[in-house]
Amino acid sequence: PTADDRVPAEVRERHTQLCQELDDHSYRYYMGRPIVSDAEYDTLMRELSGIEAHYPSLITRDSPTQKVGAPVSVDFAPVEHLERMQSLDNAFSAEEFEAWVQRVEAEAPIDAYLCELKIDGLAVDLVYEQGRLVRAATRGDGRVGEDITLNVRTIAGIPERIGTSARAAPELLEVRGEVFLPGAEFDELNARLADEGKAPFANPRNGAAGSLRQKDPRITATRPLRMLVHGVGAHAGVEFTHQSHVYDLLREWGLPVSDRYRVLSTRGGVRDYIDYYTEHRHDPEYEIDGVVIKVDDVSLQRRLGSTSRAPRWAIAYKYPPEEVTTRLTDIRVNV
Ligand code: NAD
Repeated sequence: PTADDRVPAEVRERHTQLCQELDDHSYRYYMGRPIVSDAEYDTLMRELSGIEAHYPSLITRDSPTQKVGAPVSVDFAPVEHLERMQSLDNAFSAEEFEAWVQRVEAEAPIDAYLCELKIDGLAVDLVYEQGRLVRAATRGDGRVGEDITLNVRTIAGIPERIGTSARAAPELLEVRGEVFLPGAEFDELNARLADEGKAPFANPRNGAAGSLRQKDPRITATRPLRMLVHGVGAHAGVEFTHQSHVYDLLREWGLPVSDRYRVLSTRGGVRDYIDYYTEHRHDPEYEIDGVVIKVDDVSLQRRLGSTSRAPRWAIAYKYPPEEVTTRLTDIRVNV
């Protein structure tokens, strides 16, 4: 018998069901209309990973554990990214984070980590040729995204041209970042939608996705979207030595870089950063769902490489969900 024959029928059935459910949730989520919370999605994903860890013959390239995002919709023209866009692996506890650090440090002599906030927005790819913005796209399935150039051109703070006389733009630069709606602007937008008799958005992330994925860019232009960049893809005419070097140059070229990232050389320092933002999660003007820890040295990033869906040199430390719940004990019933 093959390894496949040893998978009990009920496990195979549950596996198929989880794959279908997760694909369906992903599709809805990237459209800005999810029907389950992120925590519920993550729980289903962990169940699927657990099954696949037990029965590796069930792992196929098509499994949600191996894929990024969701296929593109028919609303926008498909565009192939110059370099694949990936997701991030998650750590949901201090123990899972320590296990990642140990794996990484067993493979490479890490001298510094770059810690930054995980913005709960929408991944967007910008392509600059000779310093001019020529294309913007959603992440899609990581290989092919949706052409949203006209919509992105309406976002304040995304430069049409990059580079200065002191720091010329490179020949080619693919920049990755997060588009989001700041909290205050989200509240204002919802109030405006309510005035117009339209349905409000459930949270800023859905608001950002819904606003960016408008077929009419004039509507996107009325939405107060913003962007922060946190990585690069394909590039020519420039070499980067460290993730922090990437950010220095992106900032000098005029791209919006957060000032909340830190380069830290000790594990204790990284833990303090994680703890600080656990306490101060609501300080930033945008929503965060965790922090991202990246190996700072680009040559070590290359050495660590990546899997089909995420780099091995970075991890998202996810904060527990903050769901509004109604406690039954708080409800008094008059009889
Ligand atoms: P992810 O959101 O867990 O992490 C990867 C993404 O984080 C990157 O693609 C990047 O765009 C973003 N990011 C934000 N700040 C970053 C930074 N500083 N550096 C690097 N990247 C940064 O992964 P994902 O693949 O986009 O989506 C999976 C997650 O989305 C799930 O864990 C779940 O929480 C949520 N989701 C929810 C549903 C739902 O129905 N509720 C469906 C699908 C996915």
